[in-house]
Amino acid sequence: MSTRHQRSSSGAAALISARGLNKSYGVTEALRGASLDLHAGEILAVTGASGSGKSTLLHCLSGIVRPDAGTVMYDGEELGGLPEDRLSVLRRDDFGVVFQFGQLIPELTALDNVALPLLLAGTRRGEANERAGEWLERFGVRGQAALRPGGMSGGQSQRVALARALVTGPRAVFADEPTGALDALSGEQVMTALVHTARETSTAVLLITHDAQIAAYADREVTLRDGAVGSGPAEAVGPEAARREN
Ligand code: ADP
Ligand code: MG
Repeated sequence: MSTRHQRSSSGAAALISARGLNKSYGVTEALRGASLDLHAGEILAVTGASGSGKSTLLHCLSGIVRPDAGTVMYDGEELGGLPEDRLSVLRRDDFGVVFQFGQLIPELTALDNVALPLLLAGTRRGEANERAGEWLERFGVRGQAALRPGGMSGGQSQRVALARALVTGPRAVFADEPTGALDALSGEQVMTALVHTARETSTAVLLITHDAQIAAYADREVTLRDGAVGSGPAEAVGPEAARREN
């Protein structure tokens, strides 16, 4: 459906390409000229100290927040040029988001939480439930299908949140410290599930973390400092930019 792609210096088409993003909150400059490419199917870790602008960058890339300056190209379209209703559809159909605390709907069961994005996109209840069940299975939490978030462990909740983010078949998943509130073992289980599924479905993942062990799951890592991504093009930041093996 797209006709235009941004090309990175390596020649591969970028799914999402951000250039020169600025975003201020009052006198705080959260982003100062941040540029970054996320390629189709790649797992990219974004690291950086607390307050360096990681969450703000994720919000701009995923169309949740509009930057004050700079551009975000997604599959040939500039997000800043899209009307709000088109942006909402894009967020619903093409992007999945996972936060540090899963932010599941507390009144709904795990199954209903995962089925919800499908229902919102017009899928019929029976099929939505079936697919939601399959995704719970994939993330090893089918046994928790009838539980509400309050009855699950943190790791189980995050795996349900991942299922919810992936159930619609998004092209990109944005995960903001998805293991930040978990113990090491649960964090590993969540990451293993995410990475395995992203590879299987060729979903691009932007993974924010300040944990080097978690960043090691990614293909590539960039670091934010004071609202900017390293120096020079995003592809060329640091020795950690080399492809990692899991
Ligand atoms: P990180 O995720 O790396 O910790 P953030 O993107 O959350 O960084 O924040 C970057 C800077 O912007 C911080 O100084 C933070 O306090 C500020 N900031 C972020 N969001 C807001 C907001 N909604 N209102 C005011 N300040 C904000
Ligand atoms: Mg943050």
